[in-house]
Amino acid sequence: MGRLDGKVTLITGGARGMGKAHARHFAAEGALVTIGDVLDEKGQAVADGIGCDYVHHDVTSADDWAAAVDAVLGRFGRIDVLVNNAGILRHAPVAEMDPAEFRQVIEVNLIGTWLGIRQVAAPMSAAGRGSIVNISSIEGFAGAAGLSAYSASKFAVRGLTRSAAQELGPLGIRVNSVHPGGVMTSMALTAAQSMTGVDGGGFLKALPIARFAEPVEISRLVAFLASDESSYTTGAEFLADGGLLSGPGY
Ligand code: NAD
Repeated sequence: MGRLDGKVTLITGGARGMGKAHARHFAAEGALVTIGDVLDEKGQAVADGIGCDYVHHDVTSADDWAAAVDAVLGRFGRIDVLVNNAGILRHAPVAEMDPAEFRQVIEVNLIGTWLGIRQVAAPMSAAGRGSIVNISSIEGFAGAAGLSAYSASKFAVRGLTRSAAQELGPLGIRVNSVHPGGVMTSMALTAAQSMTGVDGGGFLKALPIARFAEPVEISRLVAFLASDESSYTTGAEFLADGGLLSGPGY
């Protein structure tokens, strides 16, 4: 028996990084997984490797959301779990950031997550059950120079998660957020390259668990929140940050 046996799951941003790890882990735990992304070739290859479904799905598009959720409902007849994982990071000082770039980060990380909750609320409430996991960040708790857009979007995901939990709990739908620290993916590597002047060694030294996370270490937490093991948990925020925010180092 897997921890997610038969759980029909849609994971956004599944073509690489943590979304790919979540898809692999969920499938291994028995979930029936569909991944969406804008990177179609990579996404299809990941899905083929896992033996799950792929849909082209830009999370900023309400039409794409409708098509993706319809595809899941058409194939499986229900949707049990939504993992709002797709995200982007843009690094620039406030005074130098193009407003269009700021808006793009909010569009993907915040509006994309809101559109997803909006789209699955009806089918999940019709079934009387569902779990939504929103991927925020440690930057949802602490600001960082150059990350005004990213941090604002990830703080906002906490407010969205709590409000949705209040609204959807009585309908049987749980909504929680996950806040990873440094995880070895393309996003982290690109961010590290763009943050000149940031002391990477200092970041690691501030960590009680002094290393970056493997993506699957986050997948296990996401799977817990997706599963019935977390049946009394909603509107809650889960750090997986190697202990970073527990101390004064950040
Ligand atoms: P990644 O860049 O490796 O993967 C992100 C995926 O999202 C990519 O496949 C990308 O194509 C997809 N995506 C981007 N825009 C999209 C859109 N409009 N529609 C659909 N898909 C889109 O990044 P990752 O590190 O795997 O990040 C996954 C999530 O975890 C993000 O929400 C990110 O903010 C969050 N996060 C990452 C870290 C880290 O250290 N890597 C830390 C905390 C939180």
